[in-house]
Amino acid sequence: MVVAEQWYEQREVGDGVVLLTEPHVHSWARCNIWYVRGRDRDFLVDSGSGLRPLAPALPRIAGQPVIAVATHIHFDHVGALHEFPLRCAHRAEAMHYASMPDRETLAPVFRGLENPVTALPHAGWRPQDYRVEPAPIDSTLEDGALIDLGDRQLTVLHLPGHSPGSIGFLDERNGILFSGDALYDGELLDELERSDIESYVRTMERLRSLDIRIGHGGHCASFDRARKDVLVDEYLAGRRRQGCPGS
Ligand SMILES: [Zn+2]
Ligand SMILES: [Zn+2]
Repeated sequence: MVVAEQWYEQREVGDGVVLLTEPHVHSWARCNIWYVRGRDRDFLVDSGSGLRPLAPALPRIAGQPVIAVATHIHFDHVGALHEFPLRCAHRAEAMHYASMPDRETLAPVFRGLENPVTALPHAGWRPQDYRVEPAPIDSTLEDGALIDLGDRQLTVLHLPGHSPGSIGFLDERNGILFSGDALYDGELLDELERSDIESYVRTMERLRSLDIRIGHGGHCASFDRARKDVLVDEYLAGRRRQGCPGS
């Protein structure tokens, strides 16, 4: 297998938001990395697998500070977090970031994939050596906290269910939701070891009520408000069917 020349792909999606992805990473483990430009500071939502340095690939103006957040602690969202000096995550998972235990990051899932990458991040790379670098959290986030980029503000939404510390970010003025793995336009995972279906149902009910223009999820394509409502309703209908057959 050859070493990849370029690791990250990036694309402007409007509203001063850039999407970065890792095309050589297995589609299961390929998360959306969102870079949000602000007047005084920029905002990084998730950081990918960490197989190659992310910071030099960001479309960043020299000297602009970056607040790096993790929507949750799974390996595909926190791999490059250690590269950024200002790191935030939800309180319910923040204590694990200093050691990044396999049980929390689910890194063994990646090590166990048959073809985790389609090109090597660097010569001699082996999947069995994959680890998530520790990235102690500087600032823990709570539901309702406000992240101020100068000309735009993001509100932290605690969206547990996929994992206990799953969070999203709402740019209310621009109608943009960053929803992490709580909501994306693909198969949602609510049966992982730390998942909780009851919490997920409450999270979905909360997401149902949000008035957004666009949602940028942790995986898959972005969605508008109507599609968001369909995704939420599908999840809730499926869980109701399972919980109460015949209803
Ligand atoms: Zn996840
Ligand atoms: Zn994910």
